[in-house]
Amino acid sequence: MRRRSHNGMLAASIRQLSMQSARLLRSRPRLTLLGIGLLLIGLGLGVFLDDSKTASKSPQAVLEHGQNLTLPIDNNASAPVNLPILPSDSPVVEAIRVEQAAEPLTDQRNWQAVTISSGDNLGAIFKQRALSASLVHKIINLNDDTKRLTRLNVGEIIEIDYDDNGQFSALRRSNTEQDWLIIEQTGEQLSSHLVARAITSREREAKGVITGNLFTSGKQAGLRDALIMQLARIFGWDIDFALDIRRGDRFVVIYEEIWRDGEYLRDGEIVATSFVNRGDTFQALRFDAGNGTDYYAADGRPMRKAFLRTPLDFALVTSNFNPRRMHPVLKRVRPHNGVDYRAPTGTPVYATGDGTVIDSAYSNPNGNYVFIRHTNDIVTKYLHFSRRAVNKGQRVKQGQTIGYSGSTGLASAPHLHYEFVVGGVHRNPRTVDLPEAISLSAEQAQKLLAQHQNTLAVLAELDAGQQAMASSIAAGQ
Ligand SMILES: [Zn+2]
Repeated sequence: MRRRSHNGMLAASIRQLSMQSARLLRSRPRLTLLGIGLLLIGLGLGVFLDDSKTASKSPQAVLEHGQNLTLPIDNNASAPVNLPILPSDSPVVEAIRVEQAAEPLTDQRNWQAVTISSGDNLGAIFKQRALSASLVHKIINLNDDTKRLTRLNVGEIIEIDYDDNGQFSALRRSNTEQDWLIIEQTGEQLSSHLVARAITSREREAKGVITGNLFTSGKQAGLRDALIMQLARIFGWDIDFALDIRRGDRFVVIYEEIWRDGEYLRDGEIVATSFVNRGDTFQALRFDAGNGTDYYAADGRPMRKAFLRTPLDFALVTSNFNPRRMHPVLKRVRPHNGVDYRAPTGTPVYATGDGTVIDSAYSNPNGNYVFIRHTNDIVTKYLHFSRRAVNKGQRVKQGQTIGYSGSTGLASAPHLHYEFVVGGVHRNPRTVDLPEAISLSAEQAQKLLAQHQNTLAVLAELDAGQQAMASSIAAGQ
């Protein structure tokens, strides 16, 4: 195992965040200056964390372009560090929020917002505003859509508009993510409409180099939690994010953001992504082959495989596959036929493939254990559970929780011991070739390539831009 410097990792992580946060699309150059301003604030904060090890390597050496700026640092580092400014086509992610404020929702009505608190109902809200109880009654009984106003959620906002005489004119409530329920008073007439809201998706790009784990490095690249999990799921068949990733691994993501009425709503799907893991490049492209979207390599092979590489999310290794390992409890050499994932007691453990539970029981060495038989004469084994979640004979799906990690049986600390047995022979779960799902037809593979001609070019370009930095980070470990 190579030595890891946690201080160095932290410093490198923070500097990396400053240097190459997620980018907006090139279509927003007007935000660039603002982005650089925000970036400089970020640099000002980031520069305080560094140590002698990383300070000795100038970050400017790993960036091809951008001016240099010298900022004073007030910690024990001996010399100022030269910090590059991002090239002008790389605004930082903070600029998105500024844009939101600059494009407010325009509407002819003068809506007055009411935030629902505990115990509120429409009657009480109207009474507080000197609106009549009979009006509430009429609104609620107008139709099935308006009837739902009898159930308001704490924290939700409804909006009321008044006419020039201070009389009720309209009420608006978010009906679904995509539409408003609007109730309008015209003379004596009440009416309700569902009005579609402007939902748009925008493509974003982010890239990053691994300096810690996928989660921290993803955050540094400006990705939100759900998107990092999406990334981990897409590559989860190929890369063991708990054990296999290394400092200097790198990724690029092109993804969608969903905007509504000119405001950011949430992240959408990943469109295309690449991950370079210890020199091996993996690419995944979104494609709908007729059963909804899924992810494929550029040659049409599906990312999805018959087995997950890892039976749990982001964990830490205590011991790898090693037939000559000294057993930590027995203190003698005993073959270690699987992988140990250290994980806090209670961490959900997933079936790595579809199959049938052939054993779910307790024994002194194994503690609570589950064995699953899959097709192709493959058996997977999971030991030391604190609790089992499946019974013998039960059919399980890939990704289904089959138990929770623990330290029952011959275990010195809470961990999952995972074995992958092919035709009765133990194989290393981290490196064994996994059976693949069915590839796209030649015709569909061609469509995939045509669809992604541009995204493939963008992936390559973004990745090329961070190769040098990744090498430098990898060399520094
Ligand atoms: Zn073990």
